[in-house]
Amino acid sequence: MSIAHPSQATAEALLTDGTTVVIRPLGPQDRQAVLDLHSDRMSAESRRLRFFGVSRNAPRLVADRLCGEPRAGLLSLGAWVGDELIGEADCEILDNRPETAELALAVADRWHRRGTATLLLEHLTHAARRRGVRVFEADTLAGNRGVHRVFADLGLPVHRRLDQGEIRVRVPLDESDEHYRAAVDERGRRADVASLGAMLRPGSVAVVGVSRRPGSVGRTVLAKIRQGGFTGPVWAVNPRAEEIDGRPVLPSVGALPAVPDLAVLAVPAASVAEAAEECGRAGVRALVVLASGLSAAEARRLMGSCRRYSMRLTGPNSLGLAQTDPAVRLDAEFGAALPLPGTAGVAVQSGGVGIALLKRLAWLGIGVSSFVSLGDKYDVSGNDLLQWWESDGRTDLALLHLESFGSPRAFGRTARRVTRKLPVLTVDAGRSPAGRRGAASHTAAAATPTVIREALFRQAGITATRSVGELVETAALLHVQPLPAPRGAVAVVSNAGGIGILAADACADAGLLLPDLSAELRELLPAGASSRNPVDTTAAVGPAELARCLDALEHSRAVDALLVCLVPTALATDPAHDPVRALFDGPARRRLPVAAVLLDQEVPVRYLTCADDNQLPVYSDTVAAARAFAHARDRARWLAEPTSAEVDAPDCDPKTARGLVSGFLVADPQGGWLDPVSTADLLESYGLPLTTSVWARDEHSAVVAAGALRRLGHQGKVALKAYWPGQVHKSAAGAVRTGLGADHEVRSAYREFAESFGPTLVGAVVQPMAAPGVELLAGVVQDRVFGPLVVLGMGGTAADVLDDRATRLAPLTERDLSTMVTELRGAPLLLGQQGAPLVDLPAVRSVLARLSRLAADHPELAEADLNPVIARSDGAVCVDARVRLEPRPSFDPYLRRLRRPAAAEEV
Ligand code: ADP
Ligand code: MG
Repeated sequence: MSIAHPSQATAEALLTDGTTVVIRPLGPQDRQAVLDLHSDRMSAESRRLRFFGVSRNAPRLVADRLCGEPRAGLLSLGAWVGDELIGEADCEILDNRPETAELALAVADRWHRRGTATLLLEHLTHAARRRGVRVFEADTLAGNRGVHRVFADLGLPVHRRLDQGEIRVRVPLDESDEHYRAAVDERGRRADVASLGAMLRPGSVAVVGVSRRPGSVGRTVLAKIRQGGFTGPVWAVNPRAEEIDGRPVLPSVGALPAVPDLAVLAVPAASVAEAAEECGRAGVRALVVLASGLSAAEARRLMGSCRRYSMRLTGPNSLGLAQTDPAVRLDAEFGAALPLPGTAGVAVQSGGVGIALLKRLAWLGIGVSSFVSLGDKYDVSGNDLLQWWESDGRTDLALLHLESFGSPRAFGRTARRVTRKLPVLTVDAGRSPAGRRGAASHTAAAATPTVIREALFRQAGITATRSVGELVETAALLHVQPLPAPRGAVAVVSNAGGIGILAADACADAGLLLPDLSAELRELLPAGASSRNPVDTTAAVGPAELARCLDALEHSRAVDALLVCLVPTALATDPAHDPVRALFDGPARRRLPVAAVLLDQEVPVRYLTCADDNQLPVYSDTVAAARAFAHARDRARWLAEPTSAEVDAPDCDPKTARGLVSGFLVADPQGGWLDPVSTADLLESYGLPLTTSVWARDEHSAVVAAGALRRLGHQGKVALKAYWPGQVHKSAAGAVRTGLGADHEVRSAYREFAESFGPTLVGAVVQPMAAPGVELLAGVVQDRVFGPLVVLGMGGTAADVLDDRATRLAPLTERDLSTMVTELRGAPLLLGQQGAPLVDLPAVRSVLARLSRLAADHPELAEADLNPVIARSDGAVCVDARVRLEPRPSFDPYLRRLRRPAAAEEV
C-alpha cells in the first residue's frame, strides 16, 4: 500500500533567478501545453537537439506519449509559471530492467539557464527513487551542450559513452550521495537569495492602504520609510485619498509610474488577498503583510497570488522589515526605531520581541544589517534569512527568535552550514512542559518539544539561549571578542575575594574549567593575595599590577579566557588608581577573550571601549558573564569538530520491513502497537540484536519452549513474559518472571499469569535469560515535523527515575554516536576509567544507527522503544522491545520546494 501525500504531487519551488514555478505530473488536460512547449517555445535548433532531427511529427508524438493513454512505467513532471508550461522532464521505466528508466527533458528556450531543467530533474529523481528506479539513461546528441551542462550541474555522477555522434548518458541515483545533496543545497541557496532580493534590497517600494489617520499603521510605515532615507522611490496607494502630507497618493498599484519591487500591505485582513492579487498582476516581486487574523480562505488566496506571480511574502502579522545597507536604507516597519547600521542580522517571529531586541542592541551599540519581523511565516522563514545573511557580504552575527518550525530538517541543514561561517544565536521559545505526552514508552516520554528543539540546535551548531537577556549578553561577547580555545579554561581575577568566589561558582556551574594558577602568578601578587583560581589580588593592587597579572596569564598556556571582576575601592580615589584602568592598560587586543564584571553596574551589559576601539563586554552579574563564556566555548568546540559523515547501517532489509509495515497498516489502518512476533520480525530486518523470543499460546507450549531455550540462557535459565494487546510497563503489572530454571517454575509462573490476568491474557513470550550487563534504553520516536529523534539512556525498569538520556535528530553522524554515549551521566559505567571501555560500544552505536535508519526509511514507524538493551563487554542484546506504527506519508525533507503554511492548507 502506498500512501500519497496530497501536497507532494504538486510542489512549488524557485528557479535560480527567484521565479516561483509549480511542478506537477502531466496529464491529458496538458496536451496543448505540451504541444506548444515542443513547437512554438523551442527554436528549430533546440528541437533538432531534442528530437535528433526536425520531424514535424515529433511534438505530437511527445504529446501522445505524455498526455495520451496512461502508461504504467511513465513518470512525467511539468514546470509551470502561471499558465505557461516552461519545461518538462519524464522517464519511462524499462520493461526488462525495472531499475532503469529512460529520461527525456525539454525546456522552453526563453527559460533556459535559470535552473528549470535541474529543478525538474531533482523532483523527477525523487519520484523515480520512490518507484525503485536506480539509474537514469538518456541518449543525447554530442553537440547538445545545454543538456550535458544540466547533467554536470545536477551533482550526481554521470557516465558517458560516445557512440556514432550520440552520447549515451547513465546517471546512477545513489540514495545517500552527499555531493548531490550539497549541489541541491547550493542551487537552493542561490535561488532563495535571488528571490529575496526584491524583499531585502528593493529598488522601489509602495505602501498600500495608507490612511490619512495619523498614527495608523500604513501612515507610520510610510513616514518611517521616508524619514529613514530610502534611496529609491516610495509611493503611497489608497483608492480613497489623493494626498497625504502634501504628497500624492495613487488609487492603485497599477496606476503607479513604475512597478515597485516591494509592496507593504497595510490594509485590513479582509482586503489582503485582493491587494496581493493586484500587486501580483502589476508585477510586484515581494510583499510584506502587516495585518493579522486572516481566515483560512484568505490565507489560501494570498498564498495563491504569491506563488502564481512569483512574489515572496513576509508575514502576515509582521511588524515589517529594515535594511541598513547605505545603498538601500529601508526602514519599513512600524515598531522599533531604525536600527543602527551594522553587521548583526535579526529575525523575529514575535514583533514584540523584535522591538525589545532592537532596542537592546542599539543601546549596546551593536548595529544591524537587516531586520525582519517574520510574523506568521507563511513563506519567508528563519531558513531564508540564514541563507540571505550567509550571502549578503555584511552580516557576521545572526540572531533569531523562533516559536515554530515549518521545515526543521531543511533549517537544520542550512544552519549546520551557516554556523560554520558566523555565530547563529536563538532564543528558544515555548519550553513549558505542556507538550509532555502521557508516556506509553520511555522513548516517547523523552521526546518533549524542548528536547527535540535542543537536539536540532545542538546538531546545527546554533547557540540556544533561554531569554532575550541571555541572547544579548551572549551576542555582546561573540560580537567583539575572539573565541576561547575549545577546552574552556577560565582565569577569574578579582580585587575582592568574595566576588571572585561568586564568579568561580558561576563558571563551574556553566561547565567551565578553573585551573590552579599559582605557578603563573608567583611573585606578581602582594602578600595576602591568592594566586589560585579565583585569583584574589586584594584591594591593594593598582591597575598596573593587575594588568601585569593579565599579561602573565595571557602568556601562559594555562587558560583560554580571562574574567576580570572588579569593585571600586575607597583606595582608588585617584582615577589613575581605579582598577578598571587595568583593562585599558596592557595590549589593545588580547589573544584571549576578556570580559569584565562590575557588580555595581546598573545595566546588565555594556561595552567599554579600550585602545584601538577594542570593545570589552562588561556585565553586572557573574552568571551572565560565565554563561556567555560557556556559549563561546561551545561554539569553539563546534568549529573545532571536523564535519562528520552520516552513519550508515549495513545489511538492512528495507523491502521486508516495508512489507511488514504495509501489512500491519492494511489490517489496522489507524495504526497501533505491534505484537511481540511482528516486533521481532521488523527489528530483525534491520539487524537489531533482539534476544531469541518464542511465542507461547498456552502453558504447555511455554514449558516446551522453555525446555528448548534453557541451554541458551544465562545459568540455564529463562524469562517468561505475559502478553496482552495494549500492555504498557510489564514488570509494574507483574507480567515478567525472570530466572526460571525448572519446568515446574515455568508452569507455575504461567498459571499465575492466567490467574491474575484472566481472559485478557493472550499468551506469553519465553526468552533465554541474558547475562547481566549495563541496562540501556535505546529508541527512536518520529516527530511529524522534526522527523526521527534517536534516544539513548540509562535503561531498565528504573529508566524514568534515572532520567538520564541523550537525544539526536536523524540523520546521525559518527560524532553524534560517540557524543551520545559520553554525554550520559552514566557514561562512566560504559566507558571505564582508562583503557578498554566496559561495554561493547560499537555494538551500542550500531543499535542507534539501525534505529535511525529504520525510522528514516519508514516514516510510519511512530516509535520504537528498546528497553533494556543489555550492554556487556562482548556485545549488546535487547530483551524487551515495543514498536508503534501510524499511517504516515513518505516525505523527502530535502526536496527543494516552498512551504505551504498550515493556515493555508486545504481542509
Ligand atoms: P518491562 O520493561 O515491560 O517492565 P522487560 O521485559 O523489560 O519488561 O523486563 C523488565 C526487566 O526484567 C528488564 O529491565 C530486565 O532487567 C529483566 N529482564 C527481562 N527479560 C530478561 C531477559 N531475557 N534476560 C535478562 N533479564 C531480563
Ligand atoms: Mg522493558
